[in-house]
Amino acid sequence: MRQEQLQAQIEKVKAELLKLGPMRPGSLSQQYSACQKPGCKCVDPAHPQKHGPFYQLSYTHLGKSTTQFVRPQFVPEVRKQLANYKKFKTLTQQWVTLALELCKLEMQKARSAAPPSATTHQS
Ligand SMILES: [Zn+2]
Repeated sequence: MRQEQLQAQIEKVKAELLKLGPMRPGSLSQQYSACQKPGCKCVDPAHPQKHGPFYQLSYTHLGKSTTQFVRPQFVPEVRKQLANYKKFKTLTQQWVTLALELCKLEMQKARSAAPPSATTHQS
């Protein structure tokens, strides 16, 4: 890929990043529980029905992992935020990949432009 193309791709990634909405890291899991109270549906001998689902959000930030409950009405919003964070991670990785490629090209260009005496080392 040429330098201009790489530069254009980086600009595209930057524009995508600016468009990102609210985000948060982590993953959402569903849990069910049984309270074990006599007579409750969760301990029904014929058709036990556990309570739930309860939604739990787990994430690690700055080396600290956290788990918190999420109310069902917030789940759609949280899912959107998690998706945005994934997109953010993907885009920044793409940016770094493109940036590395661009650096490589620039160094190659500088090397081929330099006089031979500057690039050859005598041992
Ligand atoms: Zn119960």
